[in-house]
Parts: sequence; structure tokens; C-alpha cells
Amino acid sequence: SNPQFQAAIPILQRIEDAGFEAYFVGGCVRDALLGLPIHDVDIATSAYPAEVKGIFRRTVDTGIQHGTVTVLDHGAGYEVTTFRTESGYQDFRRPDSVQFVRSLKEDQLRRDFTVNALAARHDGTVIDNFNGLADLHDHVLRAVGNPDDRFGEDALRMMRAVRFESQLGFTLEPATAQGISDNAPLLQHIAVERIATEFTRLLLGIDRRAGLRTLIDSGLYQYCPQFAAAGPALAQLAALPASQWPNAAVAWTLLVVTLGVAPRKFLRAWKQSNDLIEAVQAATSMWPALGGTVPDNWTLYAAGTRGVTVALTAYGCAHPDRDVTAIRAAYDGLSIHHKDELALSGSDLIAAGMQPGRAMGQALRRAERAVVTGTVANTRTALLAYVQAADQAD
Ligand code: ATP
Ligand code: MG
Repeated sequence: SNPQFQAAIPILQRIEDAGFEAYFVGGCVRDALLGLPIHDVDIATSAYPAEVKGIFRRTVDTGIQHGTVTVLDHGAGYEVTTFRTESGYQDFRRPDSVQFVRSLKEDQLRRDFTVNALAARHDGTVIDNFNGLADLHDHVLRAVGNPDDRFGEDALRMMRAVRFESQLGFTLEPATAQGISDNAPLLQHIAVERIATEFTRLLLGIDRRAGLRTLIDSGLYQYCPQFAAAGPALAQLAALPASQWPNAAVAWTLLVVTLGVAPRKFLRAWKQSNDLIEAVQAATSMWPALGGTVPDNWTLYAAGTRGVTVALTAYGCAHPDRDVTAIRAAYDGLSIHHKDELALSGSDLIAAGMQPGRAMGQALRRAERAVVTGTVANTRTALLAYVQAADQAD
């Protein structure tokens, strides 16, 4: 019924016509059965990569060493991955060497949770070797097989567990939760970027509070960057109103202000992008001013459009009862929102007889501040007069 599945059905049929098995697998099956939107359709097959490439005219070797070939069809790309087992996990991380196999069940065995180990044929028949359907129905997240072994093989699965707990609103089955408590220190072996991806998704999920509670109660948080002593602050974060947070900048802003940490250093340790770091830095710079009356014009201006938007959105998430429309209105009402909008430029000052240099830069900054604070109108005449008067006073 889903258009993304519909478009991929001919791919599965072509593989079957060539004498192999092919299934939809992973998150797309889980999400479709839950009635959730689907991001990407993953296909698993008994055909080896070379055999997949023999079936389709146009393919790309996207991850051939892991058995993944992208099939191009009508302008779309479909990831087709050969059934595989993974073994020889070293350092508690996913191995990069895999064995291709012909059996679906063996492929399902290597997957992390029962609800992620469902497969579906092109006609919609679900192949459920590990009772994933029952767990899906009960909203339970359960490791495939022995949780202790599975988290020992790949410690990232523990972060995935708390992420799915929040993203799907599922409950961890007790032995799976225990497995996280018992194996939490292994998270140290996982790259920060991968931990961060899962943690951001936890923060943006529908049941962030449950995901955070498990992160705290299992002790897993201690092995996340900068969180060694963050237990109480994370509990505070978990106690914020339950509404879903809209984006990563808002989520990390709420985290940074709750922890009371310096945003740049903290977010760099978490390997976040410069774009996110700048947004959070700008938003947190005006955070202290949000508690009382409307912040002064210069604070608003310095935070910038994105900083103000992120700060006000985050503040609204933390304090849904407070009205921030007056602050938004004060920002919107500023006479300029960016230096580019200043009606006075360096060439204006040169034309008026000023020498380029440090003093000129200072004059322009003074003019900018005067306009933002409402001391002078943003016109060239008014600003020239203001700058020249200040110049004579110096
Ligand atoms: P989403 O796409 O919403 O992140 P997903 O379940 O599709 O969820 P992916 O990371 O896209 O997650 O992985 C696709 C599938 O591959 C999973 O459903 C799971 O079966 C398997 N998988 C992914 N990562 C792991 C892992 N670390 N250990 C075991 N199986 C995994
Ligand atoms: Mg996926």
C-alpha cells in the first residue's frame, strides 16, 4: 500500500525471477507495520553481490565489501544487501568482515532487536523468525538472542536501544535492559560520532523521558562524552515537559543549559558540526536574559535570527506556560537584524574624509550599536552626523 514499497516491488520480483530470494527488511518493515512514515526501503537477498549485478542493468557498488549494491531504477536507488552473518567482533564494534550466506534466518539472527529482524515478501507476507510481530504489537524492544552476547558483539546496540525506546515509544524487555546495565562500559569502544547520532535521535523521539531514564538507570550515560558526572542534570532534563522537541539545535540547547556547560567545548567533544555549535552558542548566549523581562536590544541582535529562534523554541519547550511573543516581537522590531543592513558603510566614511583603519572600524561598530539600541535612526545622514560628533568628542 505504501508508495515506496510499491515502487520497489518489481526489484524484488526481478531477483526472485532470477531464482533467488528477496525481502524487504529492517526499519522499513517495522515502521510500515506500525503505520509510521518510511525513510528508506532496505532489501535483503540470497543472491551474492555479483549475482545481483548480473540481474540489473544499472547498479552502483555502494558497499560491496558488506554485500550492498545499489540498484538504479526509474531514477530511484534501492539498496540490495546479500544475506550475511557477522563474526569475529573485535573491540566490541561491528566487524568489517562479513560472510555471505543463502539463508534469511541467518541474516535475521545478526540483527539487533526482534522488531528490526522482520522480513516481508513483495506480496506483504511477513517472515517472523523471532516473534518480532508479537513484540511490535506489545511495543516491546527485545534483543535477538542473548542480550549479553549481542551488546558484547557491538556496544552501539545499547545506544540504539535507548534511541528506539524514545523514537518508537517502546519498552525495553527486562533481560534486554539488564544487558545494557551489565555491558554499559563497553560503550567506550564506540566512536563518538556514532554515539552522538543515536543520542540526538533519542532527544528528538516521542518518549525522550523513557530513553533518558534508561540511559541514566543503566549507567550507560557515564560512557558518553562529558557525561561522567551528569547523572543529576540528565535527570533534570528527563523531568522537562514531555512535548517532542523539534530539531537538534533546540535539543542540544536544552541539554547545554540544563547541564550548565560551555557550549563550544562541550559540543566539540561530542563532535557536533560547526553549524550546530554556532546555533547553540547563539541561543545559549541569550538564555539568561529569557527568565525575566524582555532582553535588551543588543542581546537580541547579537544572538541573531537563528539564535533567537532556537532560544525561544527551546525556552518554550522547557516553559510551555510562559509567553515569549513579546520577546519575538522585540526582536522582529529591531531596526536592523544584520550588519549588512546598516545605512552607513566604510566608503561613506571615506567619502566624508575619514582614513581607512582601526578608528573607522570602531566608528562603524559604534554606529551599529547606536542603531540597534535605538539611539540613532538608520539613515546615512543621521549616522554620519552621529559618527562625526563622537569623533570630535574623542
Ligand atoms: P532507522 O532507519 O529509523 O534508523 P533502522 O532500524 O532502519 O531504523 P538502520 O540503522 O537503518 O536502522 O539499520 C537497518 C537495519 O539493520 C536494522 O533494522 C537492523 O535490522 C540492522 N542493524 C542496523 N544496525 C545494527 C547493529 N548495530 N546491530 C545489529 N543490527 C543492526
Ligand atoms: Mg533504516
